[in-house]
Amino acid sequence: MSISKLAGSITESPTLKLNEAAAKLREKGEAVIHLGAGEPKNKAPISAILSAAAKLNTGDIKYTPTDGIGSLKKAVVRYTEENYDRMVSPDNVIISQGAKQALFALLYTLVNPQDEVIVLAPYWVSYPEMIRMVYGIPVIVKPDDGRFIPSIKDVKDAVSSYTKMIIVNSPNNPSGVIYPESFIAELVEFCEAKGIYLVMDDIYQKLVFEGKKSPVAYKYTKKDIESTKIITINGISKLYGMTGFRVGWVVASKEIVEVMANVQGQISSCTSVLLQAGAEGALNGLQSAVESLRLTLENNRNVMIQELNSFTGIKLIPPDGTYYCLPDFRAYSNDSVALSDFLLKKALVVTVPGREFGMEGHLRISYSTTVKDVKTGIERIKWALDPNSPNEIYIGERKLVRDWL
Ligand code: PMP
Repeated sequence: MSISKLAGSITESPTLKLNEAAAKLREKGEAVIHLGAGEPKNKAPISAILSAAAKLNTGDIKYTPTDGIGSLKKAVVRYTEENYDRMVSPDNVIISQGAKQALFALLYTLVNPQDEVIVLAPYWVSYPEMIRMVYGIPVIVKPDDGRFIPSIKDVKDAVSSYTKMIIVNSPNNPSGVIYPESFIAELVEFCEAKGIYLVMDDIYQKLVFEGKKSPVAYKYTKKDIESTKIITINGISKLYGMTGFRVGWVVASKEIVEVMANVQGQISSCTSVLLQAGAEGALNGLQSAVESLRLTLENNRNVMIQELNSFTGIKLIPPDGTYYCLPDFRAYSNDSVALSDFLLKKALVVTVPGREFGMEGHLRISYSTTVKDVKTGIERIKWALDPNSPNEIYIGERKLVRDWL
């Protein structure tokens, strides 16, 4: 067997790997608590189900245009107008199989071998890998210790003549922070002046807490959609908790969308018409589903903050949005992979090591599950790490035994 050097160097998605490990333990009957996943417990909105079912019932399930069905693109145009105050045309929109494929097709469309793409730590695990998959070079900019947002000066200093793009994800997976308006405003001005693409991965845009709002980059440019360097990525996975539908999109200039469609056309032809119908139903239906998901997340997040605040040694920057927080566990271990592994084996709780997000010593903990799981999960982590806790606890009949890392 002779695997290509590049493919052989691409790492397995740590979150998907942990999902598998948790599923295997559950199959064995273990009471695993999953605080690793970015998936809420909700059902898809009824308007999405009805729309996908109606399409399925026609029996006419065929290819669609590569860039998506016209009616879904129109729904995205409306979404863009409502949420970004930007008029765009359907020619500025391409539908992909999730924001993941949207980002990959975008990188493939814009990045030449050896071009640099700036990624701000902590970052979503897939950015550096995807950049390397198109032979680009990820350049990571880290914030000062104890912070989740790098300084704008450090971002500018990381720019070289090879810099093609900067990716910003706000609210941020894994930290949950919203980037400040002033940061985005300065970055937009800088990118427009330097001719560097500014990719805004906005998939958690509406899942924000305490009345906060994530900045809209378009607000800070005078350029129109055809000439601006701002490109937005979005999707239904997080917005409606419709992760399995695999629908995302990019809003960019016509030229970029056209080339992306050529790229996607050669890879997947199109996103399934059934799932596009589901996405259209969600976008055109009652938006109370989003508010109800947001409220559930905010409530879970508040429980998580309360639990973590009573945990000696843990430092937490409260998340402003998303499904996650990224507490600092360095009081217990500097090795987040070993710590996460320990917690899975000893306390049967899934967390994701911060190292995967460029933030060693931290663990990403998801509160997109139930309040009960959040509470029990953190209690078990406390039990496993606190030297004063009893050596054994019982979960039903199952005895958990604590020993040190
Ligand atoms: N961007 C970020 C920041 C994410 O967290 C995720 C999913 N975890 C994606 C993109 C991809 O989402 P999708 O399910 O639409 O592919």
